[in-house]
Amino acid sequence: MDYRKKLFSNFKLYDMDSWDKIFLETVIANLDYHIENNETYRNYLQSEGFSTSDLANIDDLYKIPVIPTLYFKSNTMYSMEREDLKWILNSSGTSGNSSEVGFDSKSIYYGLRAAYNAFRDKKLFSPIPTNYLILGYEPHGSNTMGAVKSAYNTTKLAPAISRTYALIFKDGKYEINIDGIIKSIEKYSTQPFPVRLVGFPGYIYMLVKELKSNGIKLKLNSRSKVIMGGGWKQFSNIEIDKDEFYQLIYEVLGIEKDNINEFFSAVEHPIAYTACKNGNFHQPIHSKVIIRNPKTLEPVEYGNLGLLSFITPLVESMPLISIMTDDIAYMNDNCDCGIKSPYFKISNRVGIDGIKTCVEQSVEL
Ligand SMILES: [Zn+2]
Repeated sequence: MDYRKKLFSNFKLYDMDSWDKIFLETVIANLDYHIENNETYRNYLQSEGFSTSDLANIDDLYKIPVIPTLYFKSNTMYSMEREDLKWILNSSGTSGNSSEVGFDSKSIYYGLRAAYNAFRDKKLFSPIPTNYLILGYEPHGSNTMGAVKSAYNTTKLAPAISRTYALIFKDGKYEINIDGIIKSIEKYSTQPFPVRLVGFPGYIYMLVKELKSNGIKLKLNSRSKVIMGGGWKQFSNIEIDKDEFYQLIYEVLGIEKDNINEFFSAVEHPIAYTACKNGNFHQPIHSKVIIRNPKTLEPVEYGNLGLLSFITPLVESMPLISIMTDDIAYMNDNCDCGIKSPYFKISNRVGIDGIKTCVEQSVEL
């Protein structure tokens, strides 16, 4: 039996304490795999003076040397032959190079099992035919962005009647299709089917603002949903309070707060985090979230800002066990939504300068 099966097949997402032992064992098995199959990674761990015997218990996980997501912008570090991989994806980089991350079929399988449980937990599976508005790119052979694949996969959670994309591929390039989106949403609002809006929160925000400024107010089918993910980082010029945003969605589209779902994921850390009713991303059993001090890389106390980092034993194609993003976030365990596990929240308040400083400090190390 694959060492990941137990952890990634469990239906209960947040049943933390009873899974700590299994999580640790799975991490060690995943580390052993990469140490055996990846010379670069083996040398890296060695040069950092780390060995799996340093992991006596769950609190030691932060000791696994991190790989910053920035590393993947100019390097790959495969633990398998690249041609044996099933998906090669790129992160949606805002400038410069984007990361290339590849996955083998088994890692994809376990990742989808975990995502399935997260979607099931949010009741996103439905047999009712649905019209989709995708506030992102239309899939095309030349586009390998992870966000495109995940948006498309999201349209399989309920059978699609139609899919309208905000960015369509025409004559060899992408074109903005805002008029098409507005026409479609008006048409869908007269049909007896739910509508799902999928995409980056910044795009969804811009669409509802555009509809509002055109005096358009719709009452979409009551089973309609907003499914957003990908974060706000590329929209750092937009400052909006989440409650205000949800209120705007209700006003313009008639979609209630309970039907708005926000996800967090990254190509370098393909675990789906779903926001609870308070907008917090709770840690599921498949990963550990660590907020690190950018200088020392040690975990910071709950409530303090640092660099958002993750541990997961999901992937074998690349050593994505301990990665550090350039998102600034904090963690806490005082959410009153009923989920007991700790949560993280990405700080929107830190300006671009703050992010740069934090990242530069970590890169210097
Ligand atoms: Zn919560």
